[in-house]
Amino acid sequence: MCQHCNYVRSLKSSGLGYTPNRLKVLEAVGRNSAPASAQDLFAALRRTSRINRVTVYRILDLLVENGLVERLSGGGRTFFYGLAASEHHPWHAHFYCKICGSLVCLSPESLPVDDVALRGSLPGKIEGLQIRVDGVCQGCLRAAGGAASTPPAGAQG
Ligand SMILES: [Zn+2]
Ligand SMILES: [Zn+2]
Ligand SMILES: [Zn+2]
Repeated sequence: MCQHCNYVRSLKSSGLGYTPNRLKVLEAVGRNSAPASAQDLFAALRRTSRINRVTVYRILDLLVENGLVERLSGGGRTFFYGLAASEHHPWHAHFYCKICGSLVCLSPESLPVDDVALRGSLPGKIEGLQIRVDGVCQGCLRAAGGAASTPPAGAQG
């Protein structure tokens, strides 16, 4: 879990308010080093609590609506959930492997965004920004056996 985040305070200051279940779901999201699917989050929560699936999914929606969690789309119908950017969590892009369906965080420096320039160029208010880089991960490249000769990005799907 992230030591910098006070999840109780985040819930209260977001306007959503604190409940024990909301705290559990937010902690579960914050515990992962990469965004996790709703199914994975539910499976992890079920190991330690009796929370039901519908509650987990509904709370995830609330956390997204209130800006605490970001919902990232994978290639198909799967959505992934990660902590939204905040003072301790700089904005970053994600890499999606179209073979195994995993989504990993890229370092903030690898794909920097000039958000001041971006904000200045738009007439409205930006509430979220997602950049997903698609390709094939190292593990899948190795499994396919052609790591050196096949560039990971740009392949037609
Ligand atoms: Zn944190
Ligand atoms: Zn992969
Ligand atoms: Zn991330």
